[in-house]
Amino acid sequence: MQEMQEFRYTGFAQEILFGAGKLAQLGEALERFHWQRVMLCSTQSQRRNGHIAAIERLLEGRLVANFEHVQPHVQDFQVAEGLALAREYEVDAIIGLGGGSPIGMAKVVSFALEGQEREQQANSPIEQPLVPVIAIPTTYAGSELTPVYGVTNHVDGQARKVTVSDVRIAPRLIIYDPLLTLDLPPELTASTGINALAHCIEALYSITRNPPSTAVALSGIRAITSSLLRCYEAGDDLEARAEMLNGAFLAGMALAHVSMALHHGLCHVLGGSAGVPHGVANGIILPHAMRFNLDATASQLAPAAEAMGIATAGRDAESAVEEAIQAIYALIGRMRLPQRLRDVGVQESDLPHLARLALSNRSVQNNPKSVTDAVQVEAIFRAAW
Ligand code: NAD
Repeated sequence: MQEMQEFRYTGFAQEILFGAGKLAQLGEALERFHWQRVMLCSTQSQRRNGHIAAIERLLEGRLVANFEHVQPHVQDFQVAEGLALAREYEVDAIIGLGGGSPIGMAKVVSFALEGQEREQQANSPIEQPLVPVIAIPTTYAGSELTPVYGVTNHVDGQARKVTVSDVRIAPRLIIYDPLLTLDLPPELTASTGINALAHCIEALYSITRNPPSTAVALSGIRAITSSLLRCYEAGDDLEARAEMLNGAFLAGMALAHVSMALHHGLCHVLGGSAGVPHGVANGIILPHAMRFNLDATASQLAPAAEAMGIATAGRDAESAVEEAIQAIYALIGRMRLPQRLRDVGVQESDLPHLARLALSNRSVQNNPKSVTDAVQVEAIFRAAW
């Protein structure tokens, strides 16, 4: 029987420019939006590869503040620094250039600025529009499209990643320029590409899935399946890079409009509390999370298997999805990503603690198959260890 359709879909205004060389239109876009005093959040790798210099040339006097040493996973101790800079230079737009971390920092600073201003206006409860964020992604992580940020807080010597959602956080302008991804190293191509694939997979079985999110997730899987390995093997293949960036865009669209589930939640715990790079955690956990969810989600995931080129006609959904899981596992292996938690510095003795932390993660709680006991999560971590 067909699933009865019932859903809620929240849209938000975003302008997206996609194409090789589109970065050159940044200045013109700023004119159109009347943004005059811009701050840039980025990393040293973007200084080394010349992308920051390109933006400096494009924006001339309008780039007034530069915060180019953003650390991975948006650290709380860096937020105050970014915020002070934004206030000092009275910025009216913030660019996040790079992967999910600098884009996340741009979102956090924009959100925190509004909070500070509201406090100064005698605790006005009225929420103002945020200083807009311009996202220019150079990985496939997908943060550029979402109304969410994560920040890693340090309390009593423990690091813990928390996420904040608000539609106003969604970047206003996103520039996808595949030329900026040509120098993304193979291991980051692989890990952030698997991150994009995972967003599509979890969107398909999300408890808040809806027709547009399902459609873009399946298109994303098709694009990623046909281009990720090519990008890994020949990073300078512009056609493959453009197709992969399109896949990441579609994955980001799916991510932005549904709640994520077990896989996403476990990766956040591993990133925030065990220091595992986000994309690497994605690769290790994805096959295990899919297998855990297999019996409850096979009918939603069978179209994913089909989108990956796996024959599904005349067979039961679970066996097709199991073949997809094996194909993903093989792809991760071919791209030489770590496949075990023990290989990325996670100690076996950490697993019970990480499992307990995961239980309070919102994405884990939103998993379509209920996860109510830390023992369930520990079993997944042990299988991945
Ligand atoms: P990242 O931003 O931490 O970047 C990883 C590394 O890639 C950095 O060392 C960076 O310098 C390097 N890099 C990026 N682009 C490069 C390029 N073109 N050439 C060379 N080096 C380059 O990692 P990420 O995987 O992009 O993002 C992960 C972070 O983003 C995590 O904290 C994750 O939680 C967050 N995230 C948030 C959302 C969201 O919706 N809020 C979505 C996805 C990811």
